[in-house]
Amino acid sequence: MLTTNDDNIPEALCLIDGQWIAGEGPCKETISPSTGKPVSKVHYASAAQVDAAVKAAERAQLEWAKRPMAERADILIRAVDAIVPHVEELSVWVSREMGKTINESRYEMGPLTVDVSKAAVEDARRFGGSAPPPYDAAHTTRRVMTVYEPIGVAGLISPWNFPVDMLVGCVAALVVGNAVVWKPSEWAPLSPQLAARIFAEAGLPAGIFNLVYGGPEIGEALVTHPGVGVIGFIGSTAVGEQITRAAGVKRLLLELGGNGPMVVLDDADIDAAVQSAVESCFYMAGQVCTAAERLIVHEAIHDEFVSKLVERTKALRMGDPMDDLTEMGPISEERIMAKIERHVEDARAQGATIEVGGRRDGMYYEATVLTGVRPGMQIADEETFGPVAPIIKVASAAEALAIANDSPYGLSMAVWTSSLKTAFEMAEGLQAGAVAVNGGTNDWEINGPFGGYKKSGIGRELGEDSLRAFTNAKTISFNTL
Ligand code: NAD
Repeated sequence: MLTTNDDNIPEALCLIDGQWIAGEGPCKETISPSTGKPVSKVHYASAAQVDAAVKAAERAQLEWAKRPMAERADILIRAVDAIVPHVEELSVWVSREMGKTINESRYEMGPLTVDVSKAAVEDARRFGGSAPPPYDAAHTTRRVMTVYEPIGVAGLISPWNFPVDMLVGCVAALVVGNAVVWKPSEWAPLSPQLAARIFAEAGLPAGIFNLVYGGPEIGEALVTHPGVGVIGFIGSTAVGEQITRAAGVKRLLLELGGNGPMVVLDDADIDAAVQSAVESCFYMAGQVCTAAERLIVHEAIHDEFVSKLVERTKALRMGDPMDDLTEMGPISEERIMAKIERHVEDARAQGATIEVGGRRDGMYYEATVLTGVRPGMQIADEETFGPVAPIIKVASAAEALAIANDSPYGLSMAVWTSSLKTAFEMAEGLQAGAVAVNGGTNDWEINGPFGGYKKSGIGRELGEDSLRAFTNAKTISFNTL
């Protein structure tokens, strides 16, 4: 599956109109965060190659959209199934390139990519419109139907923390009759290319599925291309806002950043909440959009919660992501590490206490628990994207709710309580696309719509929501004269 050059470093290639070719732009090497050695490289596409990919997609889409849904669905199920025997190999590449543990990569490749892609195809098999009655009683001869039609070409842009998972977006866009140009992250290019190669070569017609690489300028070339009718973007809020400005009047599905609060109230099951906090704060070393970035803890149980969390945090196994027993891998890139260090230092300088952790060793950052955190500190107000559990002490559920919602983000939130009444009040009051009661912020439900309130995104993905995001509704009325 690999293309290597003289230096034996595998290179990710672009896929344009059915041809695998190197980008014409500058070369970027990926350094493995766990070994510090080059692990893959990619040549960025040129703007002309982006144009060629979009034009190939436009041509191929005309024929693809005419095929019956069942035929498109069968082709895509075969293409996704072709990935299954390679899940382990692809997981190894995800871990090598961006450093999450092999078990975290297996979860991305299996449940999150293969299973959810297949679910998108199955949802599409039954996806249809409606036949509402005419509004006006005088229209006795009128019959109405609403249908969902493909938009044309979908431009999909994805981040490095889930480098392959955007295949789900590709499948959702394709199954309803669009063609796709996907720009994976330039920071983890090989794993998406290997998955895309298996997928594309399992019977997809040339041109309907294209892959281009590059940084912000190539992303922008895709966003602003007149042939691209819908943008699916997963990434930071800052870039999501740039895309919103650059896209103009285009359909947008934006899955952006978060600053997830996990509220632990005085009647919570403390041991279960501590375990959930560990999983919410330290999964993927905190480099997840749905990570718990703020632990808002009631003063009555604060000290017991902190001491149990510190004990559990000390026992966490940090190390080689390829080792099955490792619970936390390295930080993926220096720019992420710099932000973590800046946020922890800002909190410490403003009076927070580092209960455990707070140090880096190469690209590893220790799992860290901070107490005495207050709104206004960078660690409380911004997305940190690191293995830090910042604890904010509160006196009541009402105060917890106000602090949780006092954020520009609203992606995933959680609350721990044993009161049904409080659970409902908090679940209904928290301003986020996902709320877990007696669960963690990463415990969002795959079978429901996924997306953010406020600056955490526009639109929803998964299930019918993804299919609607990649289609235009058309209402047709017939007069049966
Ligand atoms: P990023 O926004 O820096 O980059 C994401 C992608 O956008 C990359 O492919 C990049 O090349 C491209 N890009 C950068 N500038 C662009 C521009 N001006 N126009 C078009 N494309 C451009 O994000 P990242 O660092 O790769 O990923 C981490 C971020 O993604 C975090 O904020 C995280 O919360 C978020 N994220 C959100 C979800 C979600 O579902 N809500 C999932 C995963 C990650």
